[in-house]
Amino acid sequence: MPDPRATATVTAASAEGRQLDDLLRQCVQCGLCLPHCATWLATGNEVQSPRGRLLLLGELLRSTGMESGSVPVPFLQAFDQCIGCRACEAACPSGVPFSLLEHGQRQAAARLSDRAAGAPKPAVPGAVLRRMDRPGWLRFLSLTAGLARGLLEVVVGKAWRRRLDAGPAGAGQLVRLLGSMPASPRADEDLSHMLDKLCGRRTGMDGRLAQDVPVQTRDHSEPGLRVAFFNGCANAALMPGTSRRFRDLLGWAGCRVEEPFFQDCCGALASHTGRPGRAAELEARNRKAFSGALETGAVIVAEAAGCGHELRNYGGDFDENVIDAVVLLAGLDLPPLGRVPLRVVYHDPCHARHGQGIITEPRRLLAAIPGLELVEPEEPEVCCGSGGAWGLRYPEISGGLGRRKAANLAATGADLVVTSNPGCLGQIADALLLDAPDLPILPLTDLIWYAVQQARKSLPD
Ligand code: SF4
Ligand code: SF4
Repeated sequence: MPDPRATATVTAASAEGRQLDDLLRQCVQCGLCLPHCATWLATGNEVQSPRGRLLLLGELLRSTGMESGSVPVPFLQAFDQCIGCRACEAACPSGVPFSLLEHGQRQAAARLSDRAAGAPKPAVPGAVLRRMDRPGWLRFLSLTAGLARGLLEVVVGKAWRRRLDAGPAGAGQLVRLLGSMPASPRADEDLSHMLDKLCGRRTGMDGRLAQDVPVQTRDHSEPGLRVAFFNGCANAALMPGTSRRFRDLLGWAGCRVEEPFFQDCCGALASHTGRPGRAAELEARNRKAFSGALETGAVIVAEAAGCGHELRNYGGDFDENVIDAVVLLAGLDLPPLGRVPLRVVYHDPCHARHGQGIITEPRRLLAAIPGLELVEPEEPEVCCGSGGAWGLRYPEISGGLGRRKAANLAATGADLVVTSNPGCLGQIADALLLDAPDLPILPLTDLIWYAVQQARKSLPD
């Protein structure tokens, strides 16, 4: 398989090109992948479908190669506008691998820049995009967005997102950015209060705070599983309360959690913005940071599905030992879960469902909560349109996909949406603000944490 990070010229005459060409011939052009492809659903344009992109890649390979300066910008954009969700790979009966589209994506990302002749102006300047993998910068953005949202609520009212959506194009993009900044309750009390209200409970109705009753941790006769925690940029910077509660859950299940020093961003953003050098540098840093933990038998847990997918792509030790947060929780001996009488719908992040085959684990976890009714949406396999930095570069397609996803989730009649990737959470939260403002969304792990708290509250003195 050709190295997807390669940037050397590839045409059908080169060895790598011949490999790609052989793989391309696996596509029988049946079109069965089309209804699963978010960009085709959003545009109805064959060039924005897996089949169209594969045909285009074949043409380019057999003529100039994608790296040629003569490839027109619209051709490059056909690849750049692929979200990388992999829904087509999962749907394809001929086994056409996503690595083909990934090759096109990476070459296009490396060649397209803000200043490329004919390329449309991105909604977010490249200089801002490139800094999104720095937690300090993300924290600053999150704080600024939080203040701006608070101010808009006061000045424009609770429905600020809907009222401002119809504004001038520039203002529309800005309010979309504000609405889609991932966030979750920082304080445990805020999370409990929100879910108590949703369940129709009064906070503290039993007269005790949940913290007054110790969690029933498992009696592990064997030493607990050693877990090396991967912080990730978005989770650490934007949803610190959720990360802490997830670590609580791991501790209550008997895990020994450690946080290796000098770990860094997984590199997904650098890869997606055409910076293979930066991605390789981050990979080397993480390999070094986690080498001690891996040598002594720990597993690496990634809270965000996107980070877990990128870390597993490092290969070797990482492919074998990186485990997604939801998969880990589903396999642990958790403390008892209390009753949560809610109708809940789970949104599958593409990096979990298509990238890592994680489909049953989140549903198993949710089904284990007493009183909870799990409902399934239409098009569970279709991307929500976030795609990390992709949604910032193509806000119009992304916004439309977010609203399509929110409509499908709301149509289930659920009281609550849960998911396991911060990018999806922000994207869907923004679309729900527009079309279903009474339907909240939370990280899945926060709901599990709350269920444990319910069991604690119902314990006898
Ligand atoms: S489903 Fe597979 S074989 Fe059919 S058009 Fe799509 S990529 Fe080609
Ligand atoms: S990866 Fe997703 S967006 Fe790209 S072609 Fe496949 S289904 Fe469409």
